[in-house]
Amino acid sequence: MPIIPELLSAIGAGSLRVVDLTNRLQASTPTLRLPAPFANLIDFSLETVSAYDEPGPFWKHANIRTGEHIGTHLDAPIHWISGRDGHDVSEIPPARLFGPAVVLDFSAEADADADFVLDVHHVADWEAEHGAFEPGTWLLLRTGWDRFSSDQEAFLNADETGSHTPGFTAECAAWLAARPEISGVGVETVGIDAGRGAELNPPFPAHFHLLGADKYGITSLQNLALLPPTGAAIVVAPLPIVGGSGSPARVYALVEAEAAAR
Ligand code: MN
Repeated sequence: MPIIPELLSAIGAGSLRVVDLTNRLQASTPTLRLPAPFANLIDFSLETVSAYDEPGPFWKHANIRTGEHIGTHLDAPIHWISGRDGHDVSEIPPARLFGPAVVLDFSAEADADADFVLDVHHVADWEAEHGAFEPGTWLLLRTGWDRFSSDQEAFLNADETGSHTPGFTAECAAWLAARPEISGVGVETVGIDAGRGAELNPPFPAHFHLLGADKYGITSLQNLALLPPTGAAIVVAPLPIVGGSGSPARVYALVEAEAAAR
């Protein structure tokens, strides 16, 4: 039986739900703030060129200006020095951008400790309970951080010691990077590394290990609470920017309605 008609009719009938995992993109969308002496990207902006007026009497259109790593976005391998000889965002094989989505819910841990980092034993325990990862898996780390996604200050949660947001240990990042069945990781925070990732060895180990191993990262995800631990599929759609180290992306999940989170 052909698969596509069945898929589309399930979406049409609502038995297969399309869940948008993307933060809305606007000037106020929370973004990374690197400390001096590092340089920051520009935030997103929309500059109207015409709006049914003299420059364009029948139409409205605008220029967009944005950094690559703004809002919900994908990190391509060349984003990191360890992946500098790898693919840019336009070169990523499209099939790698579809895959099984597994949701590891550590929102309680991140709620208790904003500096929570996922370690190897957390993932091993999770797989023992839910099953081993399948080929093409995207590991999505749920931390509840999407509740801050319209509040720059809360999203970065910075004090005089830096940003305090959850992430991965260096050991976990290296272990995930070595697993061929993983296509990438997704997080709800501003980057795939913990807020204090600079203090780890190597600094920013999720970027270092995963992007250096031809894996991808996606950040600022939302609505992971609507996904089951296993059984959902993810669709990641970055712009094919030639030479790009990343791109804002629309990210969807397909979820069987019966499996949608209670
Ligand atoms: Mn990025």
